[in-house]
Amino acid sequence: MRTDELHVAVVGAGIAGLTLAAALSRAGIRCQVFEQTRHLGEVGAGIQIAPNASRILHRLGLAPHLRRTAVRPAAIEMRRWDDNQLIMRTPLGEECERLYEAPYYTIHRADLHQGLLELLPEGIVHLGLRCVGVEEKPDEVVLHFEGGPTATADVVVGADGIHSVVRDALVADEPRFSGQIIYRGLIPADRVSFLPEEPRVVLWLGPEQHCVCYPVSSGRLVSFGATTPGSDWRVESWSAEGRVEDLVAAYTGWNDQITRLLHAPDAVRRWALHDRDAVERWSRGRITIIGDAAHPMLPFMAQGANQAIEDAAVLAACLRGVTSDGVAAALQRYAEIRKPRTAEIQRISRENNRTLHLPDGDRQQQRDQALRGNSGLRDQEWLYGYDAESAVIR
Ligand SMILES: Cc1cc2nc3c(=O)[nH]c(=O)nc-3n(C[C@H](O)[C@H](O)[C@H](O)COP(=O)(O)OP(=O)(O)OC[C@H]3O[C@@H](n4cnc5c(N)ncnc54)[C@H](O)[C@@H]3O)c2cc1C
Repeated sequence: MRTDELHVAVVGAGIAGLTLAAALSRAGIRCQVFEQTRHLGEVGAGIQIAPNASRILHRLGLAPHLRRTAVRPAAIEMRRWDDNQLIMRTPLGEECERLYEAPYYTIHRADLHQGLLELLPEGIVHLGLRCVGVEEKPDEVVLHFEGGPTATADVVVGADGIHSVVRDALVADEPRFSGQIIYRGLIPADRVSFLPEEPRVVLWLGPEQHCVCYPVSSGRLVSFGATTPGSDWRVESWSAEGRVEDLVAAYTGWNDQITRLLHAPDAVRRWALHDRDAVERWSRGRITIIGDAAHPMLPFMAQGANQAIEDAAVLAACLRGVTSDGVAAALQRYAEIRKPRTAEIQRISRENNRTLHLPDGDRQQQRDQALRGNSGLRDQEWLYGYDAESAVIR
């Protein structure tokens, strides 16, 4: 079989699935994407894209779209919950681009999704097809969809998120509730003009919870996420509604900027935060997983989508030049490259659930001291300086 005849089926048209489809198309590999929803249109609020992912998106041709729709924040700031005092400031902007040769962006999820869709050849995304199982045969994989339709491919990639059906074919585990719920929303920027004019990512850290905000949509909107310790409510859905008054009540006593920020949205959505443990098995034969299907992580490093984008670049590079007989080895190679890095980021994200939410006291003061003492952007070399495609060549 010739390389250009390899046929890949991707389950899920989220950030992972669409980035993979774009990377495969760029590598000259045929692919089809099967998505359960009938209408594409990513919901949710903002997302942070760091240089480790933006360099990949730029190579895929997304730089003009990102320049048009995203924001390049000047810095990330961590501040205290009660008096808004600065704990740490990490400069981004030009310094980030000089050090890592790629920008740090904040972007509306819908804008990123739309940009990725525009990179794809016509007719490769199929909507309204919910995968209910995958069946491996010696020379191909059969995908089964709800209601009876089937499709076949040389390779099947599960990009179907934290509740992945494809993962179920490889691993027996369940998502784990983190104990945190996050409220998210978007606010017209002119309604929160009391925030500093300089675009920046601000995190306010306090006992048991934190709040983050940053501009998106070329600065027209401000996206925020505010965690609160969870109750029995466990729903993961961008469309689950929350009540502004519950959010405001959960942040009673926090500083004036947060209070005013959280009063400003017309509506909020809430999401119960789950992850899973890192696992050994990502692939079997012709089947593999990427993104949240492979390594769902808490958003406390803002890296879930960034890691999905890295996965996509590595998987496409591993499949480049491969024939049908070489698929299993290529998928194993992909998994071996990706597992250690994503497991470490999953671990730190989980650890941050504790360290970002310490009550005031000795441990919180030690944490703040350590944050003040770090060397800013240079400390992020291992994360932002990583070039996923070079990792394949190595
Ligand atoms: C509050 C919050 C804030 C976050 N902030 C950041 C951030 O700033 N930076 C960052 O990098 N990450 C962030 N993340 C993480 C990021 O959102 C996820 O890691 C990312 O969206 C995962 O993308 P995915 O494509 O793997 O999965 P998903 O986005 O879940 O997409 C999966 C797709 O598969 C489809 N699907 C599911 N099952 C099936 C099926 N059986 N058949 C067919 N289709 C199916 C779904 O409809 C969906 O379209 C955040 C997450 C949360 C919850």
